[in-house]
Amino acid sequence: MPNLFSDPSQQSFDARLNVNPVFVRPGEATQLPKYAMPEGMMESDTAYQIVHDTAMLDGNSRLNLATFVSTWMDDNAKRIYAEAADKNMVDKDEYPATADIEDRCWRMLADLWHVPDPEDTIGTSTIGSSEACMLGGLALKRLWQERRKAKGESTANPNLVLSAGVQVVWEKFCNYWEVEPRYVPVTSDHLVLDGHELEKYVDENTIGVVAILGQTYTGLYEPVAQIATKLDEIEAATGIDVRIHVDGASGAMVAPFCQPELAWDFAIYRVNSISTSGHKYGLVYPGVGWVVWRNKQVCPESLIFRVSYLGGDMPTLALNFSRPGAQVLLQYYQFLRLGREGYRMVQQESLDVAQYLSSAIEAMGPFDLISRGDTIPVFTWRLRDGGAKNWDLYDLADRLRMRGWLVPAYPMPDDLSDLVVQRIVVRLGLSRDLAGHLLQAIQEEVTFLESLTVPLPRDAEASGRSFAH
Ligand SMILES: *Cc1c(COP(=O)(O)O)cnc(C)c1O
Repeated sequence: MPNLFSDPSQQSFDARLNVNPVFVRPGEATQLPKYAMPEGMMESDTAYQIVHDTAMLDGNSRLNLATFVSTWMDDNAKRIYAEAADKNMVDKDEYPATADIEDRCWRMLADLWHVPDPEDTIGTSTIGSSEACMLGGLALKRLWQERRKAKGESTANPNLVLSAGVQVVWEKFCNYWEVEPRYVPVTSDHLVLDGHELEKYVDENTIGVVAILGQTYTGLYEPVAQIATKLDEIEAATGIDVRIHVDGASGAMVAPFCQPELAWDFAIYRVNSISTSGHKYGLVYPGVGWVVWRNKQVCPESLIFRVSYLGGDMPTLALNFSRPGAQVLLQYYQFLRLGREGYRMVQQESLDVAQYLSSAIEAMGPFDLISRGDTIPVFTWRLRDGGAKNWDLYDLADRLRMRGWLVPAYPMPDDLSDLVVQRIVVRLGLSRDLAGHLLQAIQEEVTFLESLTVPLPRDAEASGRSFAH
């Protein structure tokens, strides 16, 4: 579906915005320019009504099963949000209490992720995992450069080894910071980066390996311990010592609570840094992310800026300057409100709902599960070969969209790009009851699609839309 709102060429161009006269004061304009700033002012109530009514056309975020980002918080969280909307995270001097709360939060995460020494670690909040991943990647690059320079070796050709199934932020990282990405393809035998043939990708110019805890395409975890063991073997054979950044955008806030036996964090000595999205399974509205380093030595001093803070100095490490502080307070609220037990309960309930849904979808007949929602509460399925005659998963996605549910279909990454899958992300707020309604909708639409004797006409642009990022 073309985006009618952002692409004027897609519609019969009408640059006027008409306002219902009932909303305006006598004498106030009822017609405004849509793509130029209006000359005059208007009543705030009128402006509110226009913004409110336009935003109303967005889908219902609670039915958006494509997003990983939180779409529900409780009323006390909303109070804090409204009270703190004016806080700028970068003003550490003006808002020292918010800065202190930021510090508490990343230290709680460092502890949760088993840093060896809580006094010798460093971390920060970010605007999301993207910024956090960029900082983790930059630290790896700078460490590699400093190591090479000290030995008089070239720093001309850095590379980063990662799965072809990484989130788009890693493509951006490699593009923006001029690092050669070495993508390890996804195959049906190796759906995630698991160390298989890693020696073919790693060399003396490798700044690091990215391991994803909760791949966006499938929700599957990359086995960090297994990757680390393979890197041990590579080091033993070649002397090349390569470290890991764990992109735990989703999984770093699920595994500690629901899979405590899984080794993936700083307990593995090759893990240099871990990032997560506070606004995904950290259970905060967008945007907040976090990144923590295993110790101060692996976060090069040359990346840190010092800002004045309460007469002392405060290290900062960030791409952005100004950014909202409210989400950091919301993160602290959730940590206090839920504690480990609460996070475990919330995430386990999402895992249970995900597995309830995946089992029922598997039982419908035409589908094979690729993942079941037992890592993060995210699962993916494909059409069984010969499972459907005149329809495919894009049709099912379109039919569900008409009912308000966003359940995206998209191709897998290389080398599996011929395989189209469909995914559901279960989050706090998708209750078992709502999940039951969703299942009923899926069943009804599958029944409808099965009854087709010819394929539905399709908007060419619609198929192939990728929601995996
Ligand atoms: C969502 C996601 C990102 C990007 O995170 P944002 O918080 O949206 O910036 C990076 N990596 C993975 C694995 C993700 O799931």
